[in-house]
Amino acid sequence: MQVAIRAVWGMVTDIERQTAGDVHVGKTSTSRAQIIQWVMLRTDDHSRDSAGLRYVYPVISRRAGGVSVGINLNPNNACNWACVYCQVEGLTRGGPPPIDLDLLEQELSGFLEAVLHGDFMQRCVPLEAQRLMDIAFSGNGEPTSSPEFPGAVARVARVLSNFSLNLPPRLITNGSLLHRSDVQSGIRHLGSLGGEVWFKLDRAGADEIQEINGVPGAPEKISRALETCAGLARTWVQTCWFALDGDPPSAGSVDAYCLLLRPLAHQLAGVHLYGLARPSMQAAASRLTALPEPDMQLFARRIEIETGLKVIVSP
Ligand code: SF4
Repeated sequence: MQVAIRAVWGMVTDIERQTAGDVHVGKTSTSRAQIIQWVMLRTDDHSRDSAGLRYVYPVISRRAGGVSVGINLNPNNACNWACVYCQVEGLTRGGPPPIDLDLLEQELSGFLEAVLHGDFMQRCVPLEAQRLMDIAFSGNGEPTSSPEFPGAVARVARVLSNFSLNLPPRLITNGSLLHRSDVQSGIRHLGSLGGEVWFKLDRAGADEIQEINGVPGAPEKISRALETCAGLARTWVQTCWFALDGDPPSAGSVDAYCLLLRPLAHQLAGVHLYGLARPSMQAAASRLTALPEPDMQLFARRIEIETGLKVIVSP
């Protein structure tokens, strides 16, 4: 079943339901209508166009435990990294196009109106996930590579305030641009809203970073960026852990990872350790295999022992 809702400046005015052989099309009365298309959401489908909008998309996040409202500042599928497990189809190297912040704000307002005062949850979300969890800057590339990132945080803050909504904004980042003052100011603002950052750290060895993330490995730079980030907003580390060419990460890899995190642990909220929930869309996809859950748990316990950090595992 597909559900489409016509929303006007945040006001849901009409509902169109479309099922095979059963189409009901309602009336709409304005030329400024946006069409929002919804399908029944699944945890294994994080399509950025699930609502037919340019910047805003809902997903069911197994990590967040409910519906996450995604903000995609990279609609051109361009990223400054090239991770082997990346789920973005047609990923290219580069930065985002200019972001239309007015449109982003309209989309977010319209979507939240439909969620809070419409029947989006009933129509599109399985019963067990009918909770609004967060607003996450997480798109088809690195969100902080957009010069409009701080402005986007400000717009999200305004929409949340307009709805009197106490929803934490999250930033999912590879952390590579934390040295930029505009990025820091956006994260500081996000932190002041009670938001948090999920900072990508997949491997800590220079060679592995090059292989997994497709960028020159610089563990010291990552360490500095992580420390800076933790000083601006509550920061979790997020780590994708899997076997490459049939080989799980080596003992040296585990050691290097724990060594990098240990001195920063007191500043961090914890670690989200996750496996390969959805397939990689990159050329290296066939080289990757998920690790058995006991192996993930073993690594999680090792991190906890070595660093004292809390580890949440999503195999
Ligand atoms: S940083 Fe994120 S968007 Fe960029 S390549 Fe890696 S997984 Fe994909």
